[in-house]
Amino acid sequence: MPLKLLFSKQGQKLSGMRFDDYHISFEVKKNLAKLGFTKPTDIQFKSIPPILKGEDVLAIAQTGTGKTAAFAIPVIDIIHRKKTTSRADGIKCLVMVPTRELAEQIHGVFEKLSKHTKVKAFSIYGGVEQDKQIVRLQESLDVLIATPGRMFDLVSQGHLNLSRVDILILDEADHMLDLGFVKDIYDIKKKLPRTHQTLFFSATINEQIKKLAYSLVKNAIRIQISPKDPVSKNVNHSVAFIEMDDKRFFLERMVKEHPDSKILVFVRTKVRAERVAKAMERVGIQSVTIHGDKEQKDRFDVMNRFKSGEVKILIATDVSARGIDIPNVEYVVNYDLPEQAENYVHRVGRTGRGREKGFAVAFCSTEEIPMLKEIETFLGKPISVVDMDKNEYQDTLDFTEDVDNNWKDLIKENEAFLSTLKKPNKGKKGKR
Ligand code: AMP
Repeated sequence: MPLKLLFSKQGQKLSGMRFDDYHISFEVKKNLAKLGFTKPTDIQFKSIPPILKGEDVLAIAQTGTGKTAAFAIPVIDIIHRKKTTSRADGIKCLVMVPTRELAEQIHGVFEKLSKHTKVKAFSIYGGVEQDKQIVRLQESLDVLIATPGRMFDLVSQGHLNLSRVDILILDEADHMLDLGFVKDIYDIKKKLPRTHQTLFFSATINEQIKKLAYSLVKNAIRIQISPKDPVSKNVNHSVAFIEMDDKRFFLERMVKEHPDSKILVFVRTKVRAERVAKAMERVGIQSVTIHGDKEQKDRFDVMNRFKSGEVKILIATDVSARGIDIPNVEYVVNYDLPEQAENYVHRVGRTGRGREKGFAVAFCSTEEIPMLKEIETFLGKPISVVDMDKNEYQDTLDFTEDVDNNWKDLIKENEAFLSTLKKPNKGKKGKR
């Protein structure tokens, strides 16, 4: 069945709507105001009313569109209104997510939006001790955000009871499929009460995701945000043709020319992440890296340093950074093009979040051109090219403070100099 898109004009007509006009609890409104959220984003405008009515929702929306609050606002409101006791009464809403970072991030949004309400949220994920999580699960808890592995462990050990859940949220369902959690998603349905509301969120859509979605939701309200252009309209993205060995000089220049900006740099592998960080260090640029090889504690630490702005450059691989909400990232640099075209959308979605504007640039080497073509096919249109002539390109190479590069230049100059010396020598030889 094709997805019927609700990308309607309704949104435009009522875009003047403010959170103050919503029939939601006073406490939630106050929390929204404190966060500076006055008007709903598109996805919030379309999702909040049906969720409040108890309907299933199937939403295709990229990160950065405000989708977390799109489900958190109505869920908190529903639970807050219904709750009559502060005693532990069982978990009412389960949010399943693909990664630990996303679990923490969604937990943070729930905490902020549920202040002064009766709603309590908590997150569980692997890679950290489970004892503390078990203790917390025994206390009063309404919303649980979980990654599949740790959740099933705790269910099977009898620490986690899901029999009172009446709202199931699957966030970044496409990423869960990529990570092989499809069976877990089907399994979780069996552990929940027969009737419950399901909210299915995915950044991208394909046949497999549609099949999964329709097996989970009933008569869902379908919502798609910007179906024609998967990249948020807040992001100005382009591609610059730069050879592999020169990329670090362009990054150096970008960073030095934007010393106050937060820049998120994507690379293909963890080895490359470390290598780029070293290259930046050599030219006096402090950066941090995040990738699968890092301990959970380090990963949170790195994220916090970058979030707070203590370090302005974060170098990341796709898996580690997907779905992560970092405030005020001005630039995303696709230092390496992603191997999977759809990751391009996730990467550039790290900037231009909510109602902010953002910039993204991809460094594309000659050998990466086929990947660029794939990305453009995925996007359904070409990416605009950064205008750069030979002189500008060379200026950037000259701009570097990299001693290694200076050495290279010196060696080159030296070779050139030697070759000019050799010629007359040969000449002399001939004369003898
Ligand atoms: P998300 O797509 O849930 O990761 O949210 C992306 C960003 O948008 C976050 O930094 C939110 O704080 C911000 N945001 C969400 N809703 C709103 C809103 N109604 N007004 C302004 N910013 C928002």
